[in-house]
Amino acid sequence: MIYLDYSATTKTDDQVLDTFIEINKNYFGNPNSLHKLGTISKKLIDLSTKQIADILHIKEKEIIYTSGATESNNTAIFGVIENYKMRGKQIITTSLEHSSIIEPLLYLEKKGYKISYLKLDKYGRIDLEDLKNKLSDDTVLVTISSVNSEMGVKQDLNQIKEVLKEYPKVIFHSDITQSIGKEKIDLESVDLASFSAQKFYGLKGVGVLIKKENIELAPLIKGGKSTTIYRSGTPSTALIASTAKALRLAYENLEKKQNHVRQLNEFLISELSKIDGVCINSNKYCIPHIINISILNIKSETMLHALESNEIYVSTKTACSKNNSYSQVLYEITKNKEIASSSIRISLSHLTTKEELIEFISILKKEIVSLSLIRK
Ligand code: PMP
Repeated sequence: MIYLDYSATTKTDDQVLDTFIEINKNYFGNPNSLHKLGTISKKLIDLSTKQIADILHIKEKEIIYTSGATESNNTAIFGVIENYKMRGKQIITTSLEHSSIIEPLLYLEKKGYKISYLKLDKYGRIDLEDLKNKLSDDTVLVTISSVNSEMGVKQDLNQIKEVLKEYPKVIFHSDITQSIGKEKIDLESVDLASFSAQKFYGLKGVGVLIKKENIELAPLIKGGKSTTIYRSGTPSTALIASTAKALRLAYENLEKKQNHVRQLNEFLISELSKIDGVCINSNKYCIPHIINISILNIKSETMLHALESNEIYVSTKTACSKNNSYSQVLYEITKNKEIASSSIRISLSHLTTKEELIEFISILKKEIVSLSLIRK
């Protein structure tokens, strides 16, 4: 098997899994219980929270545990809207956001909110002048992901924050799911940030919403005591501790891992560029982990399944996106339906080897020839 779909999810690291099992076996107490078992669980959670806070240079009390980035994004959006409803009715975003941002915003649009989508340049970067123009006294929230999941386009959060300084009441949220663990991340500029552990070799079903101290949120999930008042439910010591472990491991030897992925990216792009009919959609503003290509005249899903029959796994659009005919994100950037309906996302990891890519390229070439013959 050649797995090239690391941006959809990663295989849980063995050490992370060991932590999860060990805690479930030996430290299963409810952290809210007052007895010894509960106290130990609570201590483990506190230690894990401190570890996460130290790695991300934030405060422990700024961490809210959730079931994943989808819940973090929903909590951020609805929590801000509910808590700051007197501030305004406009939300600014981009068409590159994950469905867990877009769908809550479409819902809010039906409820009378104005959703403004920023203009993008040919690389998919937001137009900062357009942001300046669209901001108004009615803006309550700006939500822009650090890295788009389909193309890998990276936005400059610091530059966005500079523009937002003119509007200190506007809250800035970023979905950092596709950048955390892959690169150092500066959270200075954001008020809220969401991520899932599954993207950095942690477990599925756990995520974090970072909420800066000065921001208030109305909780989406109300109920019993938890680690914060912003998300009720018995905290999972095992999921929280395994997330801390996964994050610590992800940031170990980061530079070495990044260099490896960069070299793989350069190799893959140079090889793909030599193949007739292959168009490289990723650009200089994309993280090296994501390479988006289009294979002209071959539909995304056809190629995905052809590769799958060779035990090679890639993605078409983001696994969670609903629209099924072509990639909305690719279309927004290229304005070309052919490109958008034939795109494939290859996503790399520090675990990927050059040998895997050589094998992938060879099979890709073979499949392009045979699928083109079928079409004739
Ligand atoms: N945001 C982004 C950018 C993602 O890539 C994903 C996962 N595809 C999510 C949010 C949702 O994460 P989860 O499914 O773990 O809630």
